[in-house]
Amino acid sequence: MTDTATVRCAVYLRVSLDPTGEELAIQRQREDCLRIAAQRGWVVVAEFADNSISATDKSKVRPGYDGLVAGYEAGEFDAIVCWDLDRLTRQPRQLEDWIDAAEDRGLLLVTANGDADLATEGGQLFARMKAAVARSEVKRKGERQRRAAVQRAELGRPPLGVRLTGYTPKGETIEHEAVIVKQVFERFAAGDSLRSLAAWLTSTGIPTRHGKPWNPSSVRTMLTNPRYAGLAVYMGKANGCKGIWSAIVDEDTFDDVQTRLNDPRRRTQQGTDRKHLGSGLFRCGVCSDPVRAFSGNRYRCPRGCLTRAQDGIDQFVLDVVRGRLARPDLADLLAPEESEEARTVGKEVKRLRARLRRISDDYDAELIDGHRYKVATSKVEAELAEAQRVQARLTTRKGAAGILLASDPVAAFDAAPLMMRRTAIDAMCVVVVSPAPRGRKGFDPNSVDVRWHRKENR
Ligand SMILES: [Zn+2]
Repeated sequence: MTDTATVRCAVYLRVSLDPTGEELAIQRQREDCLRIAAQRGWVVVAEFADNSISATDKSKVRPGYDGLVAGYEAGEFDAIVCWDLDRLTRQPRQLEDWIDAAEDRGLLLVTANGDADLATEGGQLFARMKAAVARSEVKRKGERQRRAAVQRAELGRPPLGVRLTGYTPKGETIEHEAVIVKQVFERFAAGDSLRSLAAWLTSTGIPTRHGKPWNPSSVRTMLTNPRYAGLAVYMGKANGCKGIWSAIVDEDTFDDVQTRLNDPRRRTQQGTDRKHLGSGLFRCGVCSDPVRAFSGNRYRCPRGCLTRAQDGIDQFVLDVVRGRLARPDLADLLAPEESEEARTVGKEVKRLRARLRRISDDYDAELIDGHRYKVATSKVEAELAEAQRVQARLTTRKGAAGILLASDPVAAFDAAPLMMRRTAIDAMCVVVVSPAPRGRKGFDPNSVDVRWHRKENR
């Protein structure tokens, strides 16, 4: 050292938990430490770092720490900046050594958070208290792990753990799987059930993440993972950041799928691929509940209001719907999709999602505490769920677009699979089935009321 006014300083960095080995946390500490050194006009001459090594366990080798001690003893520097005292050491014995060095030899030891300056008595007292308190550090480990996860998500890196179908563990796209994942999203958006998609996935031979057979639940897990839309995820939710990996589906498709998954009407149908035109779709004329398929090809109100033969009703509904599809003013039925209401709800859903992201950001930036975070998110989530219910009602019509927009809607309807026909009927009307009139044989058309949505809306 030539200039006695120059303080040579070493920076010591340590993070005990960094399963990636990518030293993200160390970067955070380094920035803080370098800032402190710069503020004091110190020259950084050495940097020591230990990653993924515990400071509490004496048996653990800490090469960075050992280097720091050796360097100090060799007189290479006069000051140490560490991010926090418990990053330096959590063993009271070692801490006492540093305090002695500060007292006897004028070592300047400061923490980046500014709590401790071992050159002062107050700082030494603080350091000793800190050593005692450091034992409770274990409790804070969870918090540090959380921050590490947030940072990964913020940097858009793929999360650790079991690889996602369609990607390698490093987040690179596996083409032949990605093609299938994309189809799963598209098929679901078009009306396929989780169960039929599970069966289809099984037939492709593509493995699940955990090697178990595909089932509706694992398909659902796939469909709800924002990472497929290229969105970074934190605590199971998209945090508003873009990932650095390639998306397999676009955000619109992803949003459509979420809307359909959240549709309460779909939820009641979940797990059963419909074999009947009106089951869960046609309504009981007495109590308005959806009727169910019942043995002997009948529909039955679950409350017991009525039991009726399916055939006559189905045939009647199909005829009426075909008649409506054949009319030139069919476009009227499509109007709600482009309605002001749909646009407003779409905006509202976007606004609430952005709000959720801001709350999450505020929490990560420690502007709000856990309690307020929970209160705020659950309120916004409830509003979002409601908005999505409305959106689901308005956009279900989309699923029927293939029929409704076809050049020959009647032919398209007749050619469509059952689920698609049900979606079309749902998009066009509500079918209300009344109890069969007494003393009358055969089907009575007056006992089934087809109520067009459009007429109802006006
Ligand atoms: Zn009923």
